[in-house]
Amino acid sequence: MGVPVSQMWTVATYVLGKKLRGVKRYPLVLMLEPLFRCNLACAGCGKIQHPADILRKQLTPEECFAAVDECGAPMVSIPGGEPLLHPQMDEIVRGLVARKKYVYLCTNALLLEKWLPRFTPSKYLSFSVHLDGLAAEHDEAVCREGTYDIAVKAIKAAIKAGFRVTTNSTLFNTADPARYHEFFDTLMEIGVEGMMVSPGYPYEKAPDQEHFLHSRETVSLFRRLFAKPKRSWKFNQSPLFLEFLKGKWELECTPWGSPAYNIFGWQKPCYLLNEGYAQSFQELLDTTDWSKYGRASGNSKCSDCMVHCGYEPSAVADTFGSLRGLATVARLFLFGPSRDNEIIDEPQPPRRPGLRVAQTPGCSDGCSTAKPHFDEARERPLVELTVLK
Ligand code: SF4
Ligand code: SF4
Repeated sequence: MGVPVSQMWTVATYVLGKKLRGVKRYPLVLMLEPLFRCNLACAGCGKIQHPADILRKQLTPEECFAAVDECGAPMVSIPGGEPLLHPQMDEIVRGLVARKKYVYLCTNALLLEKWLPRFTPSKYLSFSVHLDGLAAEHDEAVCREGTYDIAVKAIKAAIKAGFRVTTNSTLFNTADPARYHEFFDTLMEIGVEGMMVSPGYPYEKAPDQEHFLHSRETVSLFRRLFAKPKRSWKFNQSPLFLEFLKGKWELECTPWGSPAYNIFGWQKPCYLLNEGYAQSFQELLDTTDWSKYGRASGNSKCSDCMVHCGYEPSAVADTFGSLRGLATVARLFLFGPSRDNEIIDEPQPPRRPGLRVAQTPGCSDGCSTAKPHFDEARERPLVELTVLK
């Protein structure tokens, strides 16, 4: 398993402590979004469609620390936007590491190599590099040629410098399991600590609406993906979450487990949906009608969601909160995932040669949107996107 023992111990004791004290809702991973701007414009992204004045804003280190301190989650994930476009990201990370938080800095890695000297390797810090497959698939998904090579070069440099490096991959209905197997092998050969995989959430604002997975398609895809898992593949996520993606374990969403904080405040109810903001974490807990969310709620915005930020905390709670969950994880850990994955006969959408994203008005090559800042980002040479002091 691609998670260090010290981190597992911290999480286990934290969850058990909450259970023993009878705390029903508690945060496990704070999704800290210091900014929304990015140097890429991926077709499946639902985070970068804000007006320019919002994209220019960012949280200060002090605002980040106050959110982390109030929330108390043992892990902090820093997505975005692209965190390395924040000029004080090193200061933010130092402050979180000093608080002994396990930090996942999620980056597309275009600027990672330049930033490395400003970070210090630590068991509390992991770079979680966004890679959506091998070179052809990744460059296509992020709408920019050459990004895979830059990211892999940065990953190798970070590993060589002694940093923890994981990857995160979002899968759409275009994912080819055979190509993903090659991808997993490649990442393991490179030496990443663990991989994270998740189906994409069907963001209403994302320019590509055509390739999001419905829940049955998700189960079908992940069964084919893990039909013959190799022992060498290491995943930096809960084994029960992977079983859930294969339809082999029932979970219900616990959105309070991965609360999201950004320039607007605490986002209701989760990192994916945007149904208002609270000004404190306690207010988020107290004023959100949680019964309206999750797959059992019948909310159509949740019906196809099997995304890690909603279900990883549920998987961890099942692992440390029930004997059955713990025994199942122990079995998976000792003997590996089951290989009897009955394939669901789900009609798959036609595969198109050279995976392209949906055409949008004003877009001639299927790889952009009508949003001016997208075109601007694609036209600029990557080096000009550097914002180092
Ligand atoms: S790298 Fe892509 S998915 Fe991530 S924030 Fe930037 S545009 Fe969105
Ligand atoms: S099911 Fe998904 S979209 Fe709905 S509340 Fe949970 S994480 Fe958010």
